[in-house]
Amino acid sequence: MIIRNKPFLFSFKKRRDILRKLTKNAICCLTCGDIIESKTVHDFQTCRCGKVLVDGDCGYAKRISPPGVPSEWYEDLYEWKEL
Ligand SMILES: [Zn+2]
Repeated sequence: MIIRNKPFLFSFKKRRDILRKLTKNAICCLTCGDIIESKTVHDFQTCRCGKVLVDGDCGYAKRISPPGVPSEWYEDLYEWKEL
């Protein structure tokens, strides 16, 4: 089952891994404007236009977008706190 307090390892742009606890796993599609949030692992949520997808929970977060720069496809709406 899902371990709620498992830390989320977030990759930073400067290739530094900072341990943070994710409290919300959501993204906003920049193509259709849908806000999608995944609450459990394998809870795949796709936006209306189908370009981006979010999966996972606060211990494991995954985003899928078309090839290219992810920030051109979606805006991350995750919330987190430092451990
Ligand atoms: Zn969309």
